[in-house]
Amino acid sequence: MSLHAELADELAARESQGLRRTRRLLTTPQRARVSVDGRDYTAFCSNDYLGLAADPRLAAAAKTGIDRYGVGAGASHLILGHSSAHHELETALADFVRLPQALLFSTGYMANMAVVSALVGRGDAVFADRLNHASLNDAALVSRATFKRYAHNDLAALERLLQTTPGRRRLVIVDAVFSMDGDIAPVPALLELCARHDAYLLIDDAHGFGVLGAEGRGTLSHFGIASGRVIYMATLGKAAGVAGAFVAGSAVLIESLVQNARTYIYTTATPPLLAQALLVSLQLIEQEDWRRVRLRELIAQLQRELAAGPWHLLPSDTPIQPLLVGGNAEALVLSARLAAQGLLVPAIRPPTVPQGTARLRISLSADHNAADVTRLTTALLQPA
Ligand SMILES: *Cc1c(COP(=O)(O)O)cnc(C)c1O
Repeated sequence: MSLHAELADELAARESQGLRRTRRLLTTPQRARVSVDGRDYTAFCSNDYLGLAADPRLAAAAKTGIDRYGVGAGASHLILGHSSAHHELETALADFVRLPQALLFSTGYMANMAVVSALVGRGDAVFADRLNHASLNDAALVSRATFKRYAHNDLAALERLLQTTPGRRRLVIVDAVFSMDGDIAPVPALLELCARHDAYLLIDDAHGFGVLGAEGRGTLSHFGIASGRVIYMATLGKAAGVAGAFVAGSAVLIESLVQNARTYIYTTATPPLLAQALLVSLQLIEQEDWRRVRLRELIAQLQRELAAGPWHLLPSDTPIQPLLVGGNAEALVLSARLAAQGLLVPAIRPPTVPQGTARLRISLSADHNAADVTRLTTALLQPA
């Protein structure tokens, strides 16, 4: 059989299992109200939790960045692509999360690849929650360290693995907020286990940065954690509304990433205009607390309005509010029924989530209002 015939068979099998993924065509900025494939919707799909992705002040800062630096960075950071905008942003990010230094990456995926491979290799061990983001899993595999996964939030299982898995260096890696469940990792307990078993803790705060903690400073602030055992990573394409990611920690950690991280060294720096926009985003995250207040109100409203009905929301205090459906086909049907009423909520299916736990992933944003949430809950509570 030819390669292309084989691929076509695999795609047909995927389709028949209700697992084919499709892309929708967005023709407006990322906001609560969007136009998609020529129709207007209220969308509950984005990670733009604070509603900053389309903020005109970020757009104006990006334009200033273009005027100052042009469009392309033109080189990698270590050749001549490291602009003063990147540098200023790294300093601001480190200050914001109250860690000594920070290093910018083009994407969160690349930051995770970098930090795991820079810290561990053959002869070391990585311990990971089963529900971690795919980029952390890929990073662990690429690192060639022994890779052990434990059941979601099962600290007893993690402790057994820590007791029985040797390694010169040992690293526990975890999503601070789990991207498909919305729950917050028990970071203080994880840190305590790491201290007891001489391991380090890499926290991926993709969904906590900007949302959790005082002024949105993230999960470390949320838990009041300051520990030399923590290596912090967060992304800038979600609550921060732009793109990119950073790793923060000690000066020695950051310098060894600059020297060793392949996804930092062998890639073109992101356009400085993005760093310029992110400097403004960081100020808005810090100053506009009303966005987090609004989010908390919307989360409480959604939970209250769905409590009466047949639906089961997974327990989550974050803007990620998953509605458990079960079957892949059922999740698709429910998502399509909502879309017919002008409401976009993505159906999340395996392998992104475990078999039998297909769900609608409702994401709330400070750009939503109470009426948006009521429209969604009213539609969900209507008989099919
Ligand atoms: C989105 C996400 C990433 C990847 O970040 P990108 O900047 O989109 O590449 C990494 N980890 C987690 C937990 C995420 O949700």
